[in-house]
Amino acid sequence: MPRNSTDAHSTGPRIYVACLASYNAGRLHGAWIDAAQDLDDVWAEIRAMLRASPFPNVEVTCPDCEGADPQVSRCETCKGRGNVPSAEEWAIHDHEGFEGLKIDEYEAIDRVVQLANVLDNLGTEAEAFVAWWHNGTAGKDPDAWEDEFREAYRGTYRTIADYAEEVLGETYDLDSIPPLLAGHIDWDGVARELETGGDIWTADGGDGVLVFDNTV
Ligand SMILES: [Zn+2]
Repeated sequence: MPRNSTDAHSTGPRIYVACLASYNAGRLHGAWIDAAQDLDDVWAEIRAMLRASPFPNVEVTCPDCEGADPQVSRCETCKGRGNVPSAEEWAIHDHEGFEGLKIDEYEAIDRVVQLANVLDNLGTEAEAFVAWWHNGTAGKDPDAWEDEFREAYRGTYRTIADYAEEVLGETYDLDSIPPLLAGHIDWDGVARELETGGDIWTADGGDGVLVFDNTV
């Protein structure tokens, strides 16, 4: 897919939206769109791309006069007609900046935009979000995804034993254990216990292990 040179520096989640009338005619017409913005703004860019299509096949409301009464409108864009030509069908033919999250060609745009905004908000935690997402525990409400993730994500640790030591250190006063004994705690075994007991689940990532709470 061609890269739009004007926003090639963008590193946030982007989608390449292609005009299918052009595609079916053997022409590439489409636009790279920043997906981490308001849904309305994404739609506006998709519609603008379709109106600019070399293969228009429908009429749509003029974006400048919004279909004002042709009797009185002096709109230059539509010459007072209230409508302008446009292509109609589109699909997501490429995407980037989604941290390995798979976006289907016909994925609902509101879900794509929601995911893009969550990834953008999370920054360095985006990788962990993707692992959480692929685990299939996300609920039905896209607006809740970020909160659900934050509730479940315990952090990134070098090893799962490090996590076990930290979390049990918060629950129990490990300092009160004589050093002679403390040095012999089997943190790997404790960690396995937490995992097999279903309290947590983990995924590789962040140069270590991503830890998620299974109980939320
Ligand atoms: Zn107009």
